[in-house]
Amino acid sequence: MLDINTLLKSVPRITPKYIRVLEKLGLFTIKDLLLYLPFRYDDFSKTVPLSKDFVGQAITVEGKIIKAKNNRLFRRKMTITEIVLEDQNGNLLKAVWFNQPYILENFPVGSTARFSGKLGMNGPASTRGDARSSTRGGKYFSMSNPAFEKSTRDATNTGRLVPIYSETSGITSKWIRWQIKTLLPLAKIIPDILSAEIRKKYNLSDIYTALSQIHFPDDMEKLIRAQKRMAFQEMFLVQIRTLEIRKSWEEKDSNKIKFDEKLIKKFVNNLPFKLTNAQRKASFEILKDLEKPRPMNRLLNGDVGSGKTIVAAISALQTVSAGYQIAIMAPTEVLARQHFLSFSEIFKNYDFNIALLTSSYKLTSYHPELVSGSKKKMLKQVQHDKREDLLDKIKTGKINLVIGTHALIQKDVKFKNLALVIIDEQHRFGVAQRATLQSETMNIDDGNKKAIPHLLTMTATPIPRTLAIAYFGSLDLSILDEMPKNRKPIITKIITPTKRNGIYNFIRSEIEKGRQVFVILPLVEESLSESMIDVKAVKEEHERLSRVIFPEFKLGLLHGKLKAKEKEEIMSKFSNKEIDILVSTSVVEVGIDIPNATVMIIENAERFGLTQLHQFRGRVGRGKEQSYCFIFSESREQKSLFPARLKIMEKTNDGFEISEHDLKLRGPGQFFGNLQSGLPDIAMKNLGNVKLIKFARTEAKDLLENDPKLKEHPELQDDLQKFSEKIHLE
Ligand code: ADP
Ligand code: MG
Repeated sequence: MLDINTLLKSVPRITPKYIRVLEKLGLFTIKDLLLYLPFRYDDFSKTVPLSKDFVGQAITVEGKIIKAKNNRLFRRKMTITEIVLEDQNGNLLKAVWFNQPYILENFPVGSTARFSGKLGMNGPASTRGDARSSTRGGKYFSMSNPAFEKSTRDATNTGRLVPIYSETSGITSKWIRWQIKTLLPLAKIIPDILSAEIRKKYNLSDIYTALSQIHFPDDMEKLIRAQKRMAFQEMFLVQIRTLEIRKSWEEKDSNKIKFDEKLIKKFVNNLPFKLTNAQRKASFEILKDLEKPRPMNRLLNGDVGSGKTIVAAISALQTVSAGYQIAIMAPTEVLARQHFLSFSEIFKNYDFNIALLTSSYKLTSYHPELVSGSKKKMLKQVQHDKREDLLDKIKTGKINLVIGTHALIQKDVKFKNLALVIIDEQHRFGVAQRATLQSETMNIDDGNKKAIPHLLTMTATPIPRTLAIAYFGSLDLSILDEMPKNRKPIITKIITPTKRNGIYNFIRSEIEKGRQVFVILPLVEESLSESMIDVKAVKEEHERLSRVIFPEFKLGLLHGKLKAKEKEEIMSKFSNKEIDILVSTSVVEVGIDIPNATVMIIENAERFGLTQLHQFRGRVGRGKEQSYCFIFSESREQKSLFPARLKIMEKTNDGFEISEHDLKLRGPGQFFGNLQSGLPDIAMKNLGNVKLIKFARTEAKDLLENDPKLKEHPELQDDLQKFSEKIHLE
């Protein structure tokens, strides 16, 4: 008897070949497979008689097979399968497939079938004239490579909204569809983790209905309802997990670090600038947190350039002066190195030992009196340690401040008395990743077992306040919503293709004045990491600009496929003005600080969200000179749409205003990526309202109040377990 927890390998139809692929996808049980959701749908729901009206549209045609044959083109080593179908009105459709001769066996002449695909007229040019003779009047309808099904079968691959699953090699959507179709009745016995009460309250479908409709939707409306239910469920799990971790966090002790007003005042008074009110307020909130016996868990949210580093430095100063260690983590090695230089500079008059520990660098700014002057000189002066030596210095407390990448808290690093962890993230962490960070922070190897470190995360994505409150409700928030006064707003212009050359001339004159330029290209495919296609695109643009447009200048090329050392080299060349124009993909470090770079060009800007554009723009405008951001778009189809959306970039430099706008346009998913949910894009889009997140949190809170250990909800425990594993995998 099959059960939802039956292993897929015990399902008779599923052979070992498939098991391997399924397991790679993390699918082990029948329930796992049923919860493997489509990421999009082909809409073949329109079943219609053949008509010119539908040419160019995706439709389903049903009829009788009147002709079927395989044509072998020996010279081209190709088989073309050709089937002619006659619909109820006697109109003919010729369907062709390439190199799938077995299709023929399914459709003997005289049988009936459904074909789904884009309807064409006259047939593809590559087919032979003999097809024409089989159709009346020379004109016929055609489909190339349509989805197909015998009429006697339930509509699964044709004649409906057809689910498309993300495929890996060895497994097709069609295969997954059939498996799920046969196993779907078992979804009836999946225990529903959303109680009848909750479902009623928020008008959500039960799990069986939701799964049936998400895999094989009757119509769009039912699909959206199913997605809403699944999105709620996922958010419910996220919130339970977050609250659990929050609770275990709050039950822990921390080191109480006394606020030394004199020390901080002196430091602040010696800064070359006056703190903004927002910086003051945030610093105060953090210093107050550090005094508490419970570990801090605070998110410092401030736009690029809002001055988060100095706020972090104030908390570091307090912590180190009290005799504790602190760890600062950046998303990449390049940024870690930059932090190392900044903090060494900021604390050059203090007797702190600062270390940079990443896989490429093991540096200590061991003798602070040496570490002054230009950053370049500084790096030469610092001591290069062996990894073991540095680890030892960290363990014995000789090092006060350790800077590294995220790996710092995951690996073999042992501390003596780590009291504060600061995470500077350029990447967007979702709620679940945040929870993971917290649990990692709790588990850092530290000589003082009784206390766990305070945690400060800094994010440069201005997250709309409403969203942050709903989403990160279990964190405390400090917001830097005020820019340092000395900033000149960046002048931003949307550039249509005809104005391109004028801008290139302007850039020429800027470079002649000694300025530098960033050129950013978007990823070709929307994905989290760069593909080779992206690298090719950026190389080509680099080539074009070097040869055709700016042969007189020095250009550099930066992309994610370069080694850390290579990136580093290019960045330092750029920062030493050995490169005038840096052409880069969008995945490289946003936080990089090159004050002399005053021009930013963003290509194919229509591919980016506003928040992202704003982040790129933040790489310029860091120095004294006037900075510019030119937003290029090639998009013809979107010509009318595109500038409207982007106009706000010209109007304001306020990241929070832009992100509020973006939230309305594109929903909250973009602020976190969809990593945290494991949900398909389409469901993430349905998360589009902050309300849903809020409701899920309310219910999660309620549940945990009544049943803190989830003793009465074993099914939830299972799902949470799975969920945490999945998140860890990512
Ligand atoms: P981010 O928030 O992007 O990390 P940084 O901390 O790197 O920003 O600050 C950007 C620049 O602004 C740095 O050069 C820093 O020294 C400077 N800065 C920070 N606070 C102020 C301030 N209150 N007034 C003037 N300049 C400031
Ligand atoms: Mg920063």
